[in-house]
Amino acid sequence: MSITNVKTVHIPGFDIPATTYEINFDDDKEAQEEPEPTKNDSPSGGGRSFANVQILNAAGDGYGPHATTLGDIANKIPSKPSLKKSCEKCGKRPDQDGTGFASCAGCKIARYCSRECQTSHWKYHKGLCQLRKKHAELERELEAKALANNGPFVSQAALRKWYQDNVDIVDYAVVQTLELYKGCAHDLWRTNAVVFSLTGGKLGTSVPASDIRFSDAEAAEFTTLARRDRLGLPPNYLAALGAGSRVIVVFLLNREMNLMLVEGHDLPADEEWAGMEKDDMWRMHIRMRDMAQMLG
Ligand SMILES: [Zn+2]
Ligand SMILES: [Zn+2]
Repeated sequence: MSITNVKTVHIPGFDIPATTYEINFDDDKEAQEEPEPTKNDSPSGGGRSFANVQILNAAGDGYGPHATTLGDIANKIPSKPSLKKSCEKCGKRPDQDGTGFASCAGCKIARYCSRECQTSHWKYHKGLCQLRKKHAELERELEAKALANNGPFVSQAALRKWYQDNVDIVDYAVVQTLELYKGCAHDLWRTNAVVFSLTGGKLGTSVPASDIRFSDAEAAEFTTLARRDRLGLPPNYLAALGAGSRVIVVFLLNREMNLMLVEGHDLPADEEWAGMEKDDMWRMHIRMRDMAQMLG
């Protein structure tokens, strides 16, 4: 931002001269200071894009009012590539550039790094695997019923795709809601799941992952989630997903109980713990990022 065309003008009836000036938002220097180009910058490089809009940030982030841009807020959360699931048994992470580990032939969801891991994990996975298979068979029927009632239908696959494509949002929300920034000794994640409320989907349609948006996330104790009036998640179901070694994440679309996905989510890698910090505005950062992507 620069100030140009500064002039002293005399306004009739006033003794003291006034100063007029123009504020230029398209200054080149400003563009160079931008750490990296964002998707929201217009390709021509000029003009006022969404990302460059200046605002005075007076939110309670502890720094007092200061100038920032919508782009800074929207890009607060580091983006990550689509999630490739780690080994269900030993937690080993696959090469993010590769094709990922082979999946269980039954549910096609659980991933294993080796034959040994799959074999030794079967006694824990069996029940969940059968439940997933049964649910997959039921889905066509559920879909027909939902569409006949003009409700949106979302398949487990669509919710899972949202989760994998938005793992950066999920990671960030997990750090904030379960207070992982307090360090690995703070193990709220052992007793609480993170419940994500998602919105989107037109009535009377099968909802693709790209129509789903983040609405909110909150920590909820396993004991309350096990209640029938809440989500009715049986403890053995959570145990099979790795409660005690993984963060449990629950995704609810439009607060409809039958549009729910439950996943065991990896804790941050060892080297990531040190870089975490509390962010009082994390919900806004997630929503702004969503908005920026929609506009971009
Ligand atoms: Zn393994
Ligand atoms: Zn399986």
